[in-house]
Amino acid sequence: MTDIKHHLTDALLMAYSAGTLPEAFNLTIAAHLSMCDDCRARLGAFDTVGGSVLEQCNRAPMDQGSLEATMARIMSAPTQAEDGKPKPGAASDLPAPLVDYVGGSLESVKWRPVGMGVKQAILPTSREATARLLFIPAGAAVPDHGHRGTELTLVLRGAFQDETDHFGPGDIEVANEDLHHTPVADIGADCICLAATDAPLRFRGLIPRIAQPFLRI
Ligand SMILES: [Zn+2]
Repeated sequence: MTDIKHHLTDALLMAYSAGTLPEAFNLTIAAHLSMCDDCRARLGAFDTVGGSVLEQCNRAPMDQGSLEATMARIMSAPTQAEDGKPKPGAASDLPAPLVDYVGGSLESVKWRPVGMGVKQAILPTSREATARLLFIPAGAAVPDHGHRGTELTLVLRGAFQDETDHFGPGDIEVANEDLHHTPVADIGADCICLAATDAPLRFRGLIPRIAQPFLRI
């Protein structure tokens, strides 16, 4: 995909490379990386720094016989090719890192309504952060919200517009406490996003109160 214009920040790529992010962020970043050659190349630079640090670390000796024990395990492990089953999602419409979380393709997503036509599906990740798929019907808005932490939003299908810019397939928006926004899906197609948050959005519990101005549309 060459027309991606919204990319990951250096800070996020560095943290991803260092392995210090919660699972929901890793998943969203991995999904963007699978769609974005630019960010994959930039990640390579950070990974190289990590590799170089490792090379220069003092060695810590392992127990006697560790190598033999590891080799013995490798030799006695069953070969996986005998499984025979085709990998689910081999032809999935989702980025590869997402396939296992969803259990296949977009068809298998178990959507739950969150109001005003917007639907979501929370994905199973560790609890420090939350990953969810968002379905925003064409022309509809996600209720205006702020952020208590960081929110990453990766567009998988369709596109949305908010106060900052227009985001299409593969684009990732990095929002923090400073951003208050109202993402609106393009008229032409339903918009499906993967969003990761490390703190509750400020519209949680507010939906009943903000529903009225939206219904006025
Ligand atoms: Zn990118």
